[in-house]
Order: sequence, then C-alpha cells, then structure tokens
Amino acid sequence: PLFSELGLSAPIQKAIDEMGYRHPTPIQAQAIPYVLMGRDVLGVAQTGTGKTASFTLPMLEILSGSRARARMPRSLILEPTRELALQVAENFVNYGKYLKLNHALLIGGESMAEQKEVLNRGVDVLIATPGRLIDLFERGGLLLTQTKLLVIDEADRMLDMGFIPDIEKIVGMLSPLRQTLFFSATMAPEIRRLADMFLHNPKEITV
Ligand code: AMP
Repeated sequence: PLFSELGLSAPIQKAIDEMGYRHPTPIQAQAIPYVLMGRDVLGVAQTGTGKTASFTLPMLEILSGSRARARMPRSLILEPTRELALQVAENFVNYGKYLKLNHALLIGGESMAEQKEVLNRGVDVLIATPGRLIDLFERGGLLLTQTKLLVIDEADRMLDMGFIPDIEKIVGMLSPLRQTLFFSATMAPEIRRLADMFLHNPKEITV
C-alpha cells in the first residue's frame, strides 16, 4: 500500500514524503486506518517495525481535526524510559512540522517547575514516563480528565520495570470515554490482562 491510501491529510503526507518514507510498514498499514476510525488498538510489535509512526501519525491527524477545549493535555503517551520518550517527541516534531500542534515532555531529569509551566499553557500531546507523571499529579499540577487519547507503549518493558501499578493509577485518572492504543513486543498473560482491562473492543494487530 501507499501512505496516500491511509487517509492522512496533506500536511502530514508532506512531512512523510520529506522523511523519505515511500510505503507504510505492516504495523502502520494495519493500525493507522483503525486509529483514524476511533477504534482501540492492541499492537503486538517490536521496536524497529515502524510502531512509533503507527500511533504518532494518526494521533496528529485526529488532533489536527479538532480544537482544544480545556487547558489540559488532549492526548497522553506513556513510555517506560526517558530515551524512548525523547524519541517519540522527535517523531512529533518531524511528522507534525506542517501542523500547529504542540507537545510536552514529562520525564525525569528535567526541571519540575518548567514542566509545570509548559503544562499550564495547554498541550496537545503529553509524552511522559509514569513515575514523573504521578509525581506531578500528586503535587496537584496535572489534570487528565479531558485527555481522550491514550497510548501505552512498550507494555512489556513497563511490566519488567515494575510500572504496572503506576500505569493502572494513571489510567484511572483518565476519562473512560477515551481511545486507547496499547503496544507490546510480547503478549504474556499479565500483559493480556492489562490489555483486557484498558481496551474496549480493540482491533488486534500482530506483526
Ligand atoms: P520504530 O519501530 O517506530 O522505532 O521505527 C524504526 C525506524 O524506522 C525509525 O528510524 C523510523 O524513522 C523508520 N521508519 C518508520 N516508518 C517507516 C517507513 N514507513 N518507511 C521507512 N522508514 C520508516
């Protein structure tokens, strides 16, 4: 298939062209149309499969099609490590270069005061590691009740790193009326249990 068949708008298509991508990878071709339809997605895919663009591209499309109504993050991406969070942020910069959407990082090792200030201005995409997000939430610096799009990335690594209780807490802060995208390299029983808990009638994609 071609990217142009996936239903992404011209500003996103242009950014993809400039990245030199010619064809969507299998996870992209399978996930993007379902995300655009508003479906929950359970993606079983490793790093290197193009998994990141399979959620960042349709998220940009969805967010660019509507306006913010509250100064709360409109979407949230949870990553197990600071490095992965930085990589995802780079994706948003590259793919979103012709859109007027902003993102913020909420990760360890950065000034909490600065991160709070950025959040107060309102963000379209919040990319966070679980520990830092809960930290800020518990200080009263974060509301997620209007966050309608959630990505849980690298769920198996979240499990290995002991983040599952944090993730459960965070998901509990969000509206049940949300779209959730959940990715894991493996589908261990514990991961399956989480997916069953967080996802509503997901489209399951294995690559
Ligand atoms: P990921 O699996 O998301 O970590 O992506 C792995 C690498 O593949 C990244 O360096 C991307 O920039 C690149 N990539 C993602 N999608 C495509 C595509 N459709 N065509 C070519 N390269 C891609």
